[in-house]
Amino acid sequence: MAPRLTLCVAAMLTIIGTAPAHAETLYVRAGKLIDTQKGMVLVDRLIRIDDDRVASVTAYAPPPPGAAILDWSGYTVLPGLIDMHTHLADWGQTNNVAEPLLHSPQEMAYVALRNARITLRAGFTTVHDVGCFRAFTDVALREAINRGDIEGPRMSVVGAYITIPGGGGEVTGFAPGVKVPDDMRVGVVTDANDTRLKVNYLFQHGVDSIKLIATGAVLAEGTEPGTQELTDDEMRAAVIAAKANGGWVTAHAHGAQGIKAAINAGVRSIEHASLIDDEGLALAKAKGVFLDMDIYDGDYIEAVGTKEGWPAGYLRKNRETTDAQREAFRKAVKAGIKLAFGTDAGVYPHGANARQFKYMVRYGMTPMQAIQAATTVSADLLGWSKQVGAIAPGYYADMVAVKIDPLADVSALEHVDHVMKGGEVVR
Ligand SMILES: [Zn+2]
Repeated sequence: MAPRLTLCVAAMLTIIGTAPAHAETLYVRAGKLIDTQKGMVLVDRLIRIDDDRVASVTAYAPPPPGAAILDWSGYTVLPGLIDMHTHLADWGQTNNVAEPLLHSPQEMAYVALRNARITLRAGFTTVHDVGCFRAFTDVALREAINRGDIEGPRMSVVGAYITIPGGGGEVTGFAPGVKVPDDMRVGVVTDANDTRLKVNYLFQHGVDSIKLIATGAVLAEGTEPGTQELTDDEMRAAVIAAKANGGWVTAHAHGAQGIKAAINAGVRSIEHASLIDDEGLALAKAKGVFLDMDIYDGDYIEAVGTKEGWPAGYLRKNRETTDAQREAFRKAVKAGIKLAFGTDAGVYPHGANARQFKYMVRYGMTPMQAIQAATTVSADLLGWSKQVGAIAPGYYADMVAVKIDPLADVSALEHVDHVMKGGEVVR
C-alpha cells in the first residue's frame, strides 16, 4: 500500500460512523470487476468512492492529478461477501455441552470482538448473525462496530433464539434441576401469545430480525432435527409480530414437516433445510422463500467432532443430515430456488466461511451463481439490496480483491488478498 493511501485511509477512519463534513474521495483501479447484478465480468474499471459509498464505476481513465488511487489492476475485484448464518458472539462448538456456561457475558463480548475482526478480514463485510446464547451480545457487537470502536462486518442480528423449552435453541444436556442463566433463556416460548411478547421484547432491545428454532437441532442434546418443535401458531405469531416491528423472520428447520410449517407461517427464509422434501422445495419456489443451506460444515463436524469426541448424538445427527442436505441443495439449484450463502460459522472456525463456495459449485452452482449467492441474493434476503452485494453507485464501498480469478477457481475466495469496508482498506 502506498504511503499516500495510508494517510488517506487514516483520514477516512475518523469519519466512519458520523456524518462527514466534506467528501473524502478515493479511486480504485480494478483489473477485473465482477458485476454481480448482471452476472458478468468487466475489465479495467475505475471505481470512484466518496466517503463510504461508491460514486461511480467507469472504464479506466486516469483520475484527476493528486487524487488518491488504489491500484488493484492485478486483481479481480468483487463486492464484499455476505454470510447469512454466523454466530460471532459465541464461544464456538466444542465437545462440552456445558461450554456456554463456562464463559461470562463479559468474556463473550471480547470473544465476539475477535470473531468479528477475523470474519471481516476474510472478506465477509456483512453478516446475518443468527443467534448467541448470551442474549443481545450480538446487538452490542453490532453497535460497537457501527460506532467505529472495533473492526467487524456490517451486522444484522437476532438477539436470541425463539425456541420451545428444551428445544434446539436452548443450552441443554444437564441433570434435572440445573438452572441455566436467565440471559440464555430470553427467547424460550410456551405458546403463541408468549411468542408475540418475546418477539416484541427482542425488537424493543434492538434486533433486526427473528430466528425461530422450528425443528430440533444437530448440535443440541435431547432434540431431533426431523421433529417440528415450535407450533404453527407460535410461528405465525412470530411472523406477525416481527412484521409489526418492521422486521422479518428466518427459521432454523431441518425436518420436512417443520420446513413446510415455517414457510406456511410466512418466514422469509429457511436455515439448513437439510431434509426438505419435493413438496417443500415446490412451496419455497412458489412463495419466493430463500433457502440458506450450510452445505460445508457437515464435513468439519464429522472430522473434528470425531477427533475431539463431540457427543455421539451430534455426530449421528450430522451424518443423518449432511448428504441429504447436499442432494436437496442440488435439487434447489436446478429448481431455481433463491439460495443465499450461509455457513454456520461458529460451528467451525470463523474466517473459514469461504470454504463453502467450492461445495456450492460441487453441488450444482456455477462459480458466478455461488458468488451471487454471497452477494446480491443474500443482500436481497437481508432487505439491504440497495446497500450491499454490488459495486455500483450508491452502494457501500465494500469490496474484496483476489489475485486468482474466483470464476476460474472459486476456492480463491478462501484467501482474499485485500478487503475494503465502507471505503476503508482493512487488509
Ligand atoms: Zn447456526
